[in-house]
Amino acid sequence: MRLVKALWLSLVASFMLLALSTAAEATPPSVTFLMYHHVSETTPPVTSVSPDVLREHLTYLRDNNFNVIGIQQALAGVRGETELPDKAIVISFDDAYQNIFTAGRPILKEFNMPWALFVTTDPIGDTPGQYMSWEQLQTLHNEGVVIANHSSDHAHMPRRLEGESEQQWLKRIRENILNAQQQLESRIGITNKLFAYPYGEYNNALKNLVAELGFTAFGQHSGGVGPTTDFQAIPRFAAAGIYANLRTLGTKMAALSFTTHEVHYQDTLLAHTTTRPSLEVELDTSDFYTSQLQCFISGKLHSPVWVANNRFRVVAEHDLPIGRSRYNCTAPSKAKRGRFYWFSMQWIRQDEQGNWPD
Ligand SMILES: [Zn+2]
Repeated sequence: MRLVKALWLSLVASFMLLALSTAAEATPPSVTFLMYHHVSETTPPVTSVSPDVLREHLTYLRDNNFNVIGIQQALAGVRGETELPDKAIVISFDDAYQNIFTAGRPILKEFNMPWALFVTTDPIGDTPGQYMSWEQLQTLHNEGVVIANHSSDHAHMPRRLEGESEQQWLKRIRENILNAQQQLESRIGITNKLFAYPYGEYNNALKNLVAELGFTAFGQHSGGVGPTTDFQAIPRFAAAGIYANLRTLGTKMAALSFTTHEVHYQDTLLAHTTTRPSLEVELDTSDFYTSQLQCFISGKLHSPVWVANNRFRVVAEHDLPIGRSRYNCTAPSKAKRGRFYWFSMQWIRQDEQGNWPD
């Protein structure tokens, strides 16, 4: 009898171990980045949350077992240098608006949650009512807020000036990024090399430049972040405006990162005549049913074509509009019920003159 019990127990234990190791294998470390701009009731709704809504988001994170961690801890975690907690979240703000300091900071302090601030340096000190001062940035830095680079002037970086060669463009953009970095280093003593693209806009050449300069860089598209994420195009979920609703934002907060082996596309900056770019992704499919992978383009459902067991292709069925659009692909996890893998690509389609709207 005792032997049977011992055998049974060891069988149960090995099953549990197997289940644990399979789940761990199936869901690699994943973290979700949230992006905010204004904390105000009077700024443009599309980039704003009210103080009440920010409080509501932080309450939701606290009450639903999310782990809000620092941006450096998150990056070290997805690089495999440290353990990442489950349901890891990074909170980030762009543009250093005054209301982030006056309305956002007290709420973040109250919840004792770390955050990062991406700063466009030219307006700092010049427009006291609208943007923070260098003193305020220094205060945040001293309080442990990670202050990072969001360019000198918030230009549409992939866009060339009239008559500008590729070389001239690269030189101008390099100076733009390095000038902002130098300001942040000399004035408040930052040491990180983190960069957020203005408007989340990048193309291949810009990503390569940013990599060459040693930066980890962030966009404004959707998705979980994990070991195979492109570290010069890290997605951040917009959490303001129509995206502030917790019914949808809650799912995004719990997003998982697909393990991708190859992401194949030509470039994210599209010539005017390139209207339906092709995206092919080779990925680990062990923790979702390929039949359940769905892509959304301009709010419309697009079923991907599986060109191999672990490789899908998706192409827009309608011409992309001028400006920014995204291909979003998601699939429910088998191991983590109610949670979705999420991958996104952002495209910028140019008009005939090489421009696009803000
Ligand atoms: Zn910005």
